[in-house]
Amino acid sequence: MTERTGERGSILQGIRVIDGGLASELEYLGARIDGPLWSAHVLEDEPEKAVAVHRAYIEAGAECIATCSYQVSRMGYAEFGLGAERADAALLRAVELAREAAAAFPERRVVVAGSLGPYGAALHNGAEYHGNYDCSFAKLVEFHRERIAVLAAATGAQAPDLLAFETLPSLEEALAIGEALAPFPELAAWFSFTCKDGRHVAHGERLSDCAAAAARFPQTVAVGVNCTQPALMPALIGELRAASGKPVMVYPNSGEVWDAGARCWTGTGDPASFGAMAAVWFAAGAQLVGGCCRTRPAHIREVAAASRVG
Ligand SMILES: [Zn+2]
Repeated sequence: MTERTGERGSILQGIRVIDGGLASELEYLGARIDGPLWSAHVLEDEPEKAVAVHRAYIEAGAECIATCSYQVSRMGYAEFGLGAERADAALLRAVELAREAAAAFPERRVVVAGSLGPYGAALHNGAEYHGNYDCSFAKLVEFHRERIAVLAAATGAQAPDLLAFETLPSLEEALAIGEALAPFPELAAWFSFTCKDGRHVAHGERLSDCAAAAARFPQTVAVGVNCTQPALMPALIGELRAASGKPVMVYPNSGEVWDAGARCWTGTGDPASFGAMAAVWFAAGAQLVGGCCRTRPAHIREVAAASRVG
């Protein structure tokens, strides 16, 4: 990991715009993401598509991009007969691809966040959206520690600027990550939760309690919410601001809602509406704004415009 001791607090200084959804954008580029390990296919077979998506987001105004490694873990790979080395290499490769994209914009400062999804994302059954894992606390710590150790040992273009723990469904998982991070005090990390209403994370705890717990870890540089309906953001920003003095970030879904019966997305998720909401989130005290599922570079372009006004 890049030497950040002492400058951890300044990594996100002046950074306002995060990138948008990766999976849907890769799909638009024709990448093979139908399998549960879509990132493995992209990282190994179609790396140029990952670079193209990162570049599109930087071009749109993103000042911080997350790597294509949300679903990468030894446990997830083992399920498909792939070895631990393959999973570890994919984590590092994902950072390299983000760095390669950023290098195309030498005049810009682009922060690279190593995306690490929750335990539930590695189960491939949607468990991250309720957080009821059949798993001990110790196993949860170990799941996260393996990936943290790989990125902590990375150097040069394989080292992210910070670790992005995303779509966290529960207080327990945040606490497990804090324990897994403890041997690595030099690292920087953000904690972002997925919420089911304007006050509670997916598993049911108060977001303010989760964010306050995460803010106590020495590695934490920001607390936030992602993979959640955008309409909930104003209330959730209030929860986050009340929890700690850490920078607040939100990167919600586009606003479309998955209709399981009709098997399609419904509702509006157009970029202009998203940009108008982003202006409200900045005004409410969010320092960083981006997008999650179904957001595209056009959404981030609107967020960047809102960041310049706010
Ligand atoms: Zn999402």
